[in-house]
Amino acid sequence: MSTKCEQRMRICRFRRSETSVAQFGILDGNDLRGAHAGTLESVSHSRLDQPIDVSAVKLLAPVTPSKIVCVGRNYREHAAELGNKMPTEPLLFLKAPSAIIGNGDSIQLPPESTQVEHEGELGVVIAKQARKLSEDDDPLSYILGYTCVNDVTARDLQRQDVQFTRAKSFDTFCPVGPWIETELNPLNLIVKTRVNGIEKQSGRTADMAFSVPFLIRYIANIMTLFPGDLIVTGTPAGVSRLSAGDTVEVEIDGIGILQNVVC
Ligand code: MG
Repeated sequence: MSTKCEQRMRICRFRRSETSVAQFGILDGNDLRGAHAGTLESVSHSRLDQPIDVSAVKLLAPVTPSKIVCVGRNYREHAAELGNKMPTEPLLFLKAPSAIIGNGDSIQLPPESTQVEHEGELGVVIAKQARKLSEDDDPLSYILGYTCVNDVTARDLQRQDVQFTRAKSFDTFCPVGPWIETELNPLNLIVKTRVNGIEKQSGRTADMAFSVPFLIRYIANIMTLFPGDLIVTGTPAGVSRLSAGDTVEVEIDGIGILQNVVC
């Protein structure tokens, strides 16, 4: 059966069993249809399997990016809470793709840090190669969709090291998911983070210093963005320390809830 989807979609990645290979799929309510596409960007034009119930599979992080480009201090109140000035240009850093975990996976606290914090953020997934966009290019046309990200950070190591690589890139420090929602307006979403059900962060993407279209153009002017690459757009105020046993949730309206337990 061949199905071509041009409309709003929920794209996920899943495994049917512990031993089966990961596969992309399209989710409609509880109905999951496996895609025959080998790559994320071709899922929307892929042949699809008959629907199965999503509860029968293990959902994985929906992306396997070549790189994760993060934006620091993109919300004024968050910069202020850490005693930082707002940058005049986007402050970029990279997070290791090996840090990615999916919805329901555990965030592991490393022994090197005593101050691991959550940072709930809007994640932007790239649809097609983007490099040095022209004035006529619409940055939004390079976006496949949006997902929830927790940019988990060892704050003490971030301060100690000055640069961010170690603090941001421990294994399990990048929960992503639960899926990619296409056709969402990124300019006015609410990004919330809860720890054990208590709201810690709540921000509007309208309050970003540098908007999603600006960021795509800015980053693509520096480095080529490939399909599936992940842009993590900064966190609102309210970051706090995580402890073993905590449940942390990042919720973005129009996408869903990314939930992980800390251990
Ligand atoms: Mg962050």
